[in-house]
Amino acid sequence: MDKLNTKELVEKYNFKFTKSLGQNFLTDYTVLEDIVEGANITENDYVIEIGPGVGTLTKELLKRAKRVTSIELDSKLIPILESELSSYENFSLINKDALKVNYRELIGEEKSVKVVANLPYYVTTPIIANLLNDKLDIKSITIMIQKEVAERINGEPSTKEYGAFTLLAKYYCDTKIIRNVPPSCFIPSPKVDSIVIRLDKLDKPRVEVKDEKLFFNIIRQSFNMRRKTLWNSMKAIGLSKELQEKAFEDAGINPTRRGETLTIEEFATLANKIYEIRLK
Ligand code: SAM
Repeated sequence: MDKLNTKELVEKYNFKFTKSLGQNFLTDYTVLEDIVEGANITENDYVIEIGPGVGTLTKELLKRAKRVTSIELDSKLIPILESELSSYENFSLINKDALKVNYRELIGEEKSVKVVANLPYYVTTPIIANLLNDKLDIKSITIMIQKEVAERINGEPSTKEYGAFTLLAKYYCDTKIIRNVPPSCFIPSPKVDSIVIRLDKLDKPRVEVKDEKLFFNIIRQSFNMRRKTLWNSMKAIGLSKELQEKAFEDAGINPTRRGETLTIEEFATLANKIYEIRLK
């Protein structure tokens, strides 16, 4: 058979799962196919796979992509991956924490880079944030995430899901839900439902912002204390009362609103007005 079978591999190598590394391996072949299909992998693509496990998804990626580099933290998995995938000349493996990899160096001159990841949930958010904030030349990130994280990414203003992470994803990407994945598709079964989502990097950020650091700082302040009015949240930015009043007036935004009600366009307008006022 040309497919790797997760359960057979786990038995063959007598692999012992490490819970702290979020090791829930996919066993359902249709999910693997949907991930590869959903990620739109073609023979021109360089795929960076994060968290390959025993390599079941890796093998499907290798069949389609020009080149695949997999990043795996667990040293116990390295000999398994090497032994099962060594026949693929387009495969390379990095035994490292994905949060410590220099992605710019890894990408080099590659033009069509797609990231595919099925990671422990606690690493997912920082990885996505790093990959986006570092402005790397990446076309898309297809990632398996906890259902609640997907809901946060797709959150609408004035809902509890809407937050700084929603706005980060919205600023850089379009998003597309590929499919739901129930706990029964993994060994061992996780306690939560998962979703495969694709983030397609936009050619340029969704809104024009004069100072990104200020823009994201304003967003952070607005969601730090969700119940606070914008007026109170913005005090942390450090404008005088008069100038803060002017910023809201110029932006046409009522300062008694809460930050969680603002669209990304309104956050951009407010940030740009504050930027201009600070310049004067
Ligand atoms: N891709 C495989 C699959 O779908 O069956 C495995 C997914 S499993 C949820 C997560 C994988 O990420 C594990 O192999 C785990 O060892 C690895 N991992 C955990 N933390 C990591 C980190 N910080 N950097 C790289 N890999 C990590």
